[in-house]
Amino acid sequence: MSNSAAVPIRQIVIVGGGAAGWMTAAALSSLLPAGSVRISLIESEAIGTIGVGEATIPDIINFNALLGISETEFLKATNGTFKLGIKFVNWGRVGEDYFHPFGPHGADMNAIDFHQFWLRHQVTNPSSDIEEFSLNAAAAKDGRFALPDPNPRSVLSRLRYAYHFDATAYAGFLRNYAEHRGVRRVEGIVTEVRQDAETGDISEIVLENGSTIAGDLFFDCTGFRGLLIDKTLDVPFTDWSHWLPCDTAQAVACDRGSEILPYTISTAKSAGWQWRIPTQHRTGNGHIYSSSLLSDDEAIDSLLEDLDGPAIGEPRKIRFRTGHRAQPWNKNCVSIGLSAGFLEPLESTSLFLIQEGISKFIALYPTADMPDVVRDEYNRQLVKKFEQVRDFIILHYKATERDDSEFWNYTRTMDIPDSLDNRIELFREAGRVFRYEDELFAKPNWVAVLLGQNIVPRSIDPIVGAIDPASIAHSLQSMRSAMNNAVTQMKSHRNFLESYAWATEKF
Ligand code: FAD
Repeated sequence: MSNSAAVPIRQIVIVGGGAAGWMTAAALSSLLPAGSVRISLIESEAIGTIGVGEATIPDIINFNALLGISETEFLKATNGTFKLGIKFVNWGRVGEDYFHPFGPHGADMNAIDFHQFWLRHQVTNPSSDIEEFSLNAAAAKDGRFALPDPNPRSVLSRLRYAYHFDATAYAGFLRNYAEHRGVRRVEGIVTEVRQDAETGDISEIVLENGSTIAGDLFFDCTGFRGLLIDKTLDVPFTDWSHWLPCDTAQAVACDRGSEILPYTISTAKSAGWQWRIPTQHRTGNGHIYSSSLLSDDEAIDSLLEDLDGPAIGEPRKIRFRTGHRAQPWNKNCVSIGLSAGFLEPLESTSLFLIQEGISKFIALYPTADMPDVVRDEYNRQLVKKFEQVRDFIILHYKATERDDSEFWNYTRTMDIPDSLDNRIELFREAGRVFRYEDELFAKPNWVAVLLGQNIVPRSIDPIVGAIDPASIAHSLQSMRSAMNNAVTQMKSHRNFLESYAWATEKF
């Protein structure tokens, strides 16, 4: 095999220093061989960052671990808390709630999914709730937390968690990390992006003070502005707002009570939903809504009515468009973060999509000529990730029985992607659910939302239907007792945090 013609990339320029920019800078500075490439990051304090984004999914643990970041240092630096899942209130019907836990319900038996046994059990025990068999849900309900046990025989090994944290502090933490590994930070506003007249590749950026920064490869991490991928390269945007009609958020933090919940709360409202995210120092709140159906004033009033404590400052309005860049990587520009696309934060997936962009880029790390085949593969894989997450989010809107507003009447009756329609029908038939093509959400995630929003299978899996119901009840009872015992051994979430990673400075 000859690699003699391959010219390596020597200069990488990252434009933008929000979570996307600094996650990219931190990962590249850690994973690329030292001294092999010069990395510069340009950001502007005058422009600032989006400054929201406090909830995550368990994959963030892998990202931090890859970078060798200590969990306690990270939690202290970002006022972080643990997250066991999301409590969804009023989504299926007003007055109902359910918990979407990270981690499984019960344990599969004989290679058959646990939920099939539970569905069989429920036929004769209609008051049984699948959440009774989720370790995460049980711990969340009691406000408790423990780290998973590395011993796979322990019930506690089944616990999965993520974090809530201050996203701005996370970017600052990663900035420190990346600068220590040689990333050069440049403060300034980019006023011009120059392209090669022949190829159209980006050749250099020009700052307000007239200085220029040239590169072989550029990352567009400029957020919704999309300074390179949109304003310069004009890559089309695939718009999904007909499936996800919310387009505006009002965000405000508030004081929190003494308790710190180990989960996010998402409460469905008349034209959208409201998040509640507990960090160590405050509660983050936001109301996401469709601006054609709710005025800003109505959205703010509704947001402020539902806070844990006094608001800290005024609500901040953020407009967004749901969808993604048709080619997140175009020419010599890779867009990462909000410039590449956005799906509303209902399942806290944005930082995950940033991670995916970074890890796929590393897996396909190109030579300076950037072959089309590499770019095409990156785009194919990343767009697929966006589509898979999109389907999971749409499910929450489609699988509702609410008919109390124009918003829910629209989402309940709208056409949905065939991929999702097929999934729902398969589940409705006999509770079958599959994880396709390395997708993010696993079977228990789909099951939690499908059942939580009252999609009940019409029939029982015939294999499980042939098993003695008493033996199923016995197995389920043992699982539940083992789980409840494990939960009673856990500390309260707050006590755990205080002993493990309490931020000394509360700001
Ligand atoms: P930004 O934070 O906007 O950063 C853009 C950067 O580009 C800034 O540094 C800015 O200074 C720089 N820049 C722009 N133009 C120029 C210029 N001309 N010159 C120099 N610099 C420039 N994600 C989650 O994972 N969980 C959540 O709970 C969550 N909640 C969210 C709620 C809302 C309402 C929204 C809108 C997003 C949420 N997100 C969430 C997404 C998350 O906030 C973003 O994915 C993440 O912060 C990354 O943003 P970014 O770095 O792409 O953009």
